[in-house]
Amino acid sequence: MNTAHQARTALVTGGGSGIGLAIAEKFVHSGIRTLILGRDQEKLNAARNRLGELCHPYCFDLNDLASIPALVRRLTDEFGRIDILVNNAGINMKKDLIDTTDGEFSRILHTNVMAVFALSREVTKGMVAEGRGCIINISSMASQYGIPKVIAYTASKSAIEGMTRAMAVELSPLGIRVNCIAPGFIATDMSEKALNGDAERKQKVLSRTPLGRLGDPGDIGEAALFLASEGARYITGTIIPVDGGNAIGF
Ligand code: NDP
Repeated sequence: MNTAHQARTALVTGGGSGIGLAIAEKFVHSGIRTLILGRDQEKLNAARNRLGELCHPYCFDLNDLASIPALVRRLTDEFGRIDILVNNAGINMKKDLIDTTDGEFSRILHTNVMAVFALSREVTKGMVAEGRGCIINISSMASQYGIPKVIAYTASKSAIEGMTRAMAVELSPLGIRVNCIAPGFIATDMSEKALNGDAERKQKVLSRTPLGRLGDPGDIGEAALFLASEGARYITGTIIPVDGGNAIGF
């Protein structure tokens, strides 16, 4: 166990599965107490059983924006403070632009942008009081280049990258570093839905990924652990692709 991380507390949204679970796992293995949040209690319990007693599951729907201040107060009362916030929870929808309804577009923006804003605002209040903190947002290749059939998701992840810069300039002077990881195509439930059954899309992804494979959720976990570490103390406002070279692939 790395003692440098001891006594710190992280909140990882969507920590019950996929990339969030891999981030939570890296944190826990480094001795960071890690609160994982999602809507599916069974999934969260399974993650807790796998990660052990430094992992604390919380069942909460981030779409319930009005309840976020009370949630953060409850977590802060219970754990003292939140040192690291990973805004990982997100949803995707693959649909032609002309078939996407206003309601569907709004639903994606609500989870992927509004909830990230509301949770970051509330957690930041405690970080400002402490004079330190670390926020890690998760964007996507959809905000690096154009991908068809993901208009709402692209809008949401482009917002996340802009928000990362806006948060970093305002919060870094207060001791809070804010960064963003832009994952490439990572093998999770989400990418399975987007790529399986669409051999052409999957081939396109792999052909422009110089490292020649989909990413493993743990690849993102490693990057998040670094960004949360003392080694990243002079890094803020960045968007770091962890993508096997997909963003620069030919
Ligand atoms: P998963 O679908 O496996 O995980 C998404 C997580 O978000 C789930 O644990 C889910 O929990 C949680 N979540 C979704 N909506 C809510 C909500 N309203 N309230 C609380 N929790 C919620 O996907 P990934 O692990 O692949 O994705 C994680 C992040 O990485 C997302 O932001 C995604 O956009 C991003 N990303 C993924 C890529 C990939 O290739 N996989 C590529 C680029 C970015 P529950 O089901 O319990 O609600």
